[in-house]
Amino acid sequence: MSLEPLPWIANLSPYRPGEPSPNLDGSMASNESPFGVSQAVIRAVERAATSGNRYPDPLANELRKELAVLHGVEVEQVMIGNGSDEIILMLAWAYLGRDRRMVCAEPGYQIDAISARIVGAQVSMVPLRNLTHDLPAMAQVSGDIAYVVNPHNPTGTACSAVELETFSETARTRLIVVDEAYIDFANDPRVASSMPLVKTGKVAVLRTFSKLYGLAGFRIGYLVASADVIETLVRVRAPFSVNRIAQAAALAAIRHRADYVPLREEVIQRRQVITDLFEGAGFQVSESQANFVLVLTPDERAVIEHLRDHLVSVRPGTSLGIPGSIRVSVPTEAGLKMLAGALACRVHQV
Ligand SMILES: *Cc1c(COP(=O)(O)O)cnc(C)c1O
Repeated sequence: MSLEPLPWIANLSPYRPGEPSPNLDGSMASNESPFGVSQAVIRAVERAATSGNRYPDPLANELRKELAVLHGVEVEQVMIGNGSDEIILMLAWAYLGRDRRMVCAEPGYQIDAISARIVGAQVSMVPLRNLTHDLPAMAQVSGDIAYVVNPHNPTGTACSAVELETFSETARTRLIVVDEAYIDFANDPRVASSMPLVKTGKVAVLRTFSKLYGLAGFRIGYLVASADVIETLVRVRAPFSVNRIAQAAALAAIRHRADYVPLREEVIQRRQVITDLFEGAGFQVSESQANFVLVLTPDERAVIEHLRDHLVSVRPGTSLGIPGSIRVSVPTEAGLKMLAGALACRVHQV
C-alpha cells in the first residue's frame, strides 16, 4: 500500500497482554479476578441479551446515576467507557496532541504512554523511586495531563492520601488523572481514594470494573471528573462503545457491591500468602497494595521457565519496564497450591 501511517504511529509498539496458562488456575499474568463472575451479574447479562437488537444507552445513564450517588458527585461528572483504557484514549484525543505533553512514571501503565503517542504528544516519564511514584519530581514537570496510577501497576506500591493532595496542589500539569484500578485492594490506612480531590477541578479519578468486580472480559470502566471534562469527552467518544451487556453487568455488580467485600478481604489475604511464599523461597517482594506482587529476581527468565514447567504463567518484568522481576497476580485457591508446589521444589533444587 502506498499510504504510510503518520510517522509517530509507525514507531509505536502495540500493547502486549499477559499470557494465560494452559491450566487457567495457573494464570497469574493479567491481574484478573480469581473468583469468576457472580450469579447476579450472570442473571443481569442474560436479561440484557434479550434486548440485543436495540442500541445501548450511549452514556449508560442508569449506571452513571448509580455511580454518581455512590461517589457523591453529579451525574454530569461521570463518564463510562469500554474499559478504563478507552477513557484514557478519549483523554488523549481531547487534551493531547502534537503541541501537548503527558507526564507519567517510568515505568508506568503502558496504555497511558501509548495513548499520548498515538496523538503525537510529548511524553515525559519520571523514574520510580524505591518502586514508587516520585511525586515531588513529577510535580516539577510542566504538562497537560499527569497520570498517577495508585496503587501502581506493575509495582503494587501506593502513594499516601497526603502525598497525593500535596501533588495536586503543586503539580505543574493542568489535569491530574489518578488511575485507581486497584484502590479496592489497598489496606494501608495512609492510602485512600483521590475522589475527594475531584472537586478541586484539577483531579480526575479513573476506576474499572475489571479487577475487584471481575468484569475484565465485559470491558467497562469510568472516570469521575469535573463536568467540563466529561462534556468534552462526550464530544470525542464513539457513541455506542459501551455495549448493553457490559452496562447490565456493571449495574448488577455495583448494586450488589456488598458481595465483593469478602472477596476484597480474600485477595488481601492471598497477597500476603504469595508474598510469604516468594520471600520464603529467598526472593524480595514489593510492598503491594494491589491484587498482585512484583517479585525481584536476578534470573527472570529462569524463574519464569521454572514456573511455566508447573503451569504457572506470570508477567515478565522485562515486558513491564522492570527487568529482573516478575509480576504475579493473586490466583485462585488451586493456583496458590500450584505456586506453592513450584516454589517448594525450586527451593529443594537450590
Ligand atoms: C487493569 C488496569 C486498568 C483496567 O483497564 P480496563 O480497560 O478497565 O480493563 C486500568 N489501569 C491500570 C493501571 C490497570 O492495571
